[in-house]
Amino acid sequence: MEEKSLSDIGELGVIDRIRKLAETFSPNVVIGIGDDAAVVKMGKDLLLFSTDLLIEGIHFRRDYTPPELLGKKAVAVNVSDIAAMGGVPLYFTLSFAAPEELSLSFLDRFASGISASAEMYNLSLIGGDTSAGEKIVIDIAIIGKAEGAAPITRAGASPGELIFVSGNLGDSAVGLTLLEAGFRMSEKGGITSPTSLSKEEEGLAQTLLSAHLNPQPELTLGRLLAERRIPGAMLDISDGLARDIGNLCRASKVGARLYKNKIPLSEALIHFAKKLDRDATDLAISGGEDYRLLFTAPPEKLKEIEGLSRELKRDIIELGEIVESSSEIYIMDEDGREASFSGGYDHFGKK
Ligand code: ADP
Ligand code: MG
Repeated sequence: MEEKSLSDIGELGVIDRIRKLAETFSPNVVIGIGDDAAVVKMGKDLLLFSTDLLIEGIHFRRDYTPPELLGKKAVAVNVSDIAAMGGVPLYFTLSFAAPEELSLSFLDRFASGISASAEMYNLSLIGGDTSAGEKIVIDIAIIGKAEGAAPITRAGASPGELIFVSGNLGDSAVGLTLLEAGFRMSEKGGITSPTSLSKEEEGLAQTLLSAHLNPQPELTLGRLLAERRIPGAMLDISDGLARDIGNLCRASKVGARLYKNKIPLSEALIHFAKKLDRDATDLAISGGEDYRLLFTAPPEKLKEIEGLSRELKRDIIELGEIVESSSEIYIMDEDGREASFSGGYDHFGKK
């Protein structure tokens, strides 16, 4: 019999196996493996830890990624995991491998992106590691703190709570499709494309390419949600709505019902999905890397959530509810029928 490999068990299976064989416990570990960030007690403080890898050829391609934006994104995706706990990011380390022929200008532009993000989120770079490698590999590890509020985990959702998302979904996935089709965006946002675009289309393409190349973590929203104790559970959508609502449900031992017609789609997504002959809602359900916050809250909090949405001048969209029955996820179409539900990104899943 052939020996089994990672693809037989998928990404979750891999993490679970490592966890079973290697997880260690200390009474100061409040939350270990399984959430957006780990939570560790240090004296009176609760520290948050998270790390995220970006690998050339898997997470990005050098030909379509301006180095400044690569630096910004490497920091942003880590900040997003701290935001998902409702915390404040403080310090980070940067580990970096690259082929020796990589130009110094690439390195400088990458480092200036790191620096711009660090300044934006008030973060300090405090160390890292460097190596030669066949491809560019970036690993940032971030330390944050829960300030004035307990961290929000993935595990606190209860039946009857509503499900909210902090903005349009799927833009990043379509942005990636456009990059693969030859669209390009400069670090300043200038768009070039293989075919000519109207001014309006150029603006729409910029929305999608920015979503993929320059994601904006929802730090303020995450913090305010935690401070006001609004969410039952929360995470950031990195692997796609389908997979991440699954992660939330599994952690909370509940199910979910989502309404297909409530899933927020940008005008840009609708326009380009049509051009690409793809189903816009499917892209929003299965596409990853939007870095929106997905959270649950009891219906009594609806007014407070609407207030927060006005205060921050941003949309917070209700798209379903938490139900009993662990890990069952339904998605309802306009006629109230259950629609099929699939997708999301699995690093080791069978392609
Ligand atoms: P996110 O999408 O929020 O970055 P992941 O899906 O990457 O989270 O990881 C899920 C959980 O599994 C996290 O708590 C993460 O710290 C943990 N994890 C992932 N890979 C490993 C690993 N190789 N060893 C230990 N824990 C891991
Ligand atoms: Mg996360």
